[in-house]
Amino acid sequence: MIAPAKAIEKQISSPDGKLVVTLSDNGGKATYSVRYNGEEFLKPSPLGLNTNIGDFTGELTLSGASPVEEINESYEMRTIKKSSIDYRANKAVFSFTQGDRVVFDVTFQVSDNDIAFRYTLHPRRATLSAIVKEEATGFVFPDGTTTFLCPQMRPMEGFARTTPSYETTYTADDSMGKNAGGLGYTFPCLFRNGDKGWVLISETGVNSLYCASRLLGGAEGLYKIGFPQPTENNGNGSVEPALALPGQTPWRTITVGETLKPIVETTIPFDVVEPLYEASKDYTYGRGSWSWIIKGDGSISYDETKRYIDFSAAMGWESVLIDAFWDTQIGRDKIAELAEYAAGKDVGLFLWYNTNGYWNDAPQTPRGIMSNIIERRREMKWMQSVGIRGIKVDFFGGDKQVTMQLYEEIMADANDFGLMTIFHGCTLPRGWERMYPNFVSSEAVLASEMLNFSQGVCDAEAYNATMHPFIRNTVASMDFGGSTLNEYYNANNTPGRGSVRRTSDVFALSTAVLFQSSAQHFAMAPNNLTDAPEWALDFMRRVPSTWDDVRFIDGYPGRYAILARRHGDTWYIAGINAQKETLEVTLDLSIFGDAGEVVLYSDTKDLEGSRQSVKVNKKQELKVSIPCNGGIVVTR
Ligand code: CA
Repeated sequence: MIAPAKAIEKQISSPDGKLVVTLSDNGGKATYSVRYNGEEFLKPSPLGLNTNIGDFTGELTLSGASPVEEINESYEMRTIKKSSIDYRANKAVFSFTQGDRVVFDVTFQVSDNDIAFRYTLHPRRATLSAIVKEEATGFVFPDGTTTFLCPQMRPMEGFARTTPSYETTYTADDSMGKNAGGLGYTFPCLFRNGDKGWVLISETGVNSLYCASRLLGGAEGLYKIGFPQPTENNGNGSVEPALALPGQTPWRTITVGETLKPIVETTIPFDVVEPLYEASKDYTYGRGSWSWIIKGDGSISYDETKRYIDFSAAMGWESVLIDAFWDTQIGRDKIAELAEYAAGKDVGLFLWYNTNGYWNDAPQTPRGIMSNIIERRREMKWMQSVGIRGIKVDFFGGDKQVTMQLYEEIMADANDFGLMTIFHGCTLPRGWERMYPNFVSSEAVLASEMLNFSQGVCDAEAYNATMHPFIRNTVASMDFGGSTLNEYYNANNTPGRGSVRRTSDVFALSTAVLFQSSAQHFAMAPNNLTDAPEWALDFMRRVPSTWDDVRFIDGYPGRYAILARRHGDTWYIAGINAQKETLEVTLDLSIFGDAGEVVLYSDTKDLEGSRQSVKVNKKQELKVSIPCNGGIVVTR
C-alpha cells in the first residue's frame, strides 16, 4: 500500500502582508484559501477545469510556483471612479500537474485588498484547442457569512423574451445555502463575514475569448462559477467556452476589507486588464437628456428631439440620447439635420439600436443592424458622416461566448468610426472601460425605466439605490439614467398620472454623484426648467460625470450610502437613506482642506429640500440628518 502523499502548500501574500492566499493539493484537489489580518475569509475553495481534452479537477499535484514578482504599475482613466491609478501587487504562477505533465497554471495577483486569479490551460501534445465543459472554481465562505445577491434572470422571459439582462433586485443580509431557484446570481456578489468584514466577488477581462459567468450557490458555504444557461440566445450557441491553447480564462476577483472602504474604492476590474486597441479619437464624456425616459415612444419626433437639444443646451449638458423608433418617426435625413442643429449648440447625439437578431422579439426599430457586420459598419459610416457621437445598443441575448464576441465586435467597429458605445438590456461590463477605450457604460441594473413602469420600484427606489455604490457600480460604470425631478412619471409632470416619485429632490441630486458613469443621461425634462427648484437646476448644471477620486464615508447596503467623489479640486460628499428612521451622521469635512464654508443640500423630515452655506467649525465636522427617501450633498 502506498501512503497518501502529504499535501503540498504554497502561499502568496499582499505587499502589506495582511492578505494571504494559501494554495494546496490536499487529496489531489487544487484549492486556495484566503485570510485577511489573520482571519479566515475563504475556506479551502476549489480550483480546476473539466475540459474536452481532460478532466483537470482531480488527481492534481501542486508541482511548482514561480518566484514572486512585484507589480508596480500606474495608468490613467477618464471613464471610471478614479483618474490616476497605482496598482501594486505580488504575482506568482502556480502549476498543477496530473500524471507527468503540467495541465494548468493559476496566476495569482495579490494587492493589499484584492486578489485576482486566472487559469492558463496548456496544449496537450498536438492538441491546440479545447472546450471548457465546467469549472470547479469556487469560493467557500465561513459559517455565518451573509449574502447581498442579485438573482440571474430566467432566459427568454419578460418583455419580448429579452431576459436575462441583469435587471432584478438584490436581497440584503440573506443566509447562505440558496441558489435563486437554480438560476444562480449575477456578478458582482457581496458577502459579509460577520463582524470580520466584507468580500466582493466578481470577474474581469471577459472578452470574445470566453463566456461571462454567474455564481451558483451550493451547500456548506460553496459558491461556484457557473456558465450561461442553455436557453439564453433562444437556445442557440454553446454555453461551454472554447479556447485556443495555450489559453487563458478571465480573471476572477476577490476584494476583501474590514469595512466597505476597499470595496467602494477598488480598481481591480481595471488593474489586471489592458487596452485591446487604441482610441481612434479623444472621446467627449458628459451629461445629457433623453425624452423617452419620461415621455415614451411618442416623444421620438423631430420637434420633441429639438426641444430636448435646447433643454440640454440650457442645462449646459453635452448630449441628447434619441431612443427607439427614430428611424421611422424621425428618419435618417432629419437625424442628420438634428445632429447639425445640436452641434451648433455644442450638444452631441447618441442613437438607440435594437441589437436583436434571432435572440428575442423586441419590435423596436432600428432592428438587426448592430448584429450584422456588413449592415453595422455601413450604418456606422453614415453616423460618422453626420456627426453622431455614440450608440446605445439594447436587448442582447445573454452571456454565451457568441454574445461576448458580438459585444467586442460592436465596440471595435464603433471605435473605427469614432463612436462611443453604451449597452442596455445587457450583461455586466467586466473591465471594459479599460479594455475598449470607446466603451462608456452599461445598464445591467434595475434602472430608471422601471421607476417609470412600476410604482413598486418607485416605492423601493431608496433601498435599491443604497445597494449600487457597494455592489453593481463599484466594478463597472452604471447607466442608470435617473435623477428625475418630475414628481410624476408622465409627459408634463401632471399629478395623478404614472408612477409617483417617493424620493426627494436632494436624493435625485445625490444619486447624480453616487451613481458613476462617464456619460449620464438624466431623467429630467424641459418642464423642470420652470417647475424644479432653482438650486436643484443649478446643481444639475454643474454636477460632473467624470471623476478623479472616490472615498467611502459610511453606509450599509440596503440601509444608507454616503460616498465622496472628487472632480478636479472639488469634492462632493453625497448620501441617501432608505431606513424608516432619520439618519444622523457627523461628517468629517477635512477633505475640503481648510475651507471656511461649504454648500449643503439637505432635506427636512418632510423631504423639502434646500441649499445653504454652512461655516465649517474648527473640528472640520458637520452634523447632518437624512430622512427616509432623502439625501444630502456637501460641496463647495
Ligand atoms: Ca432595460
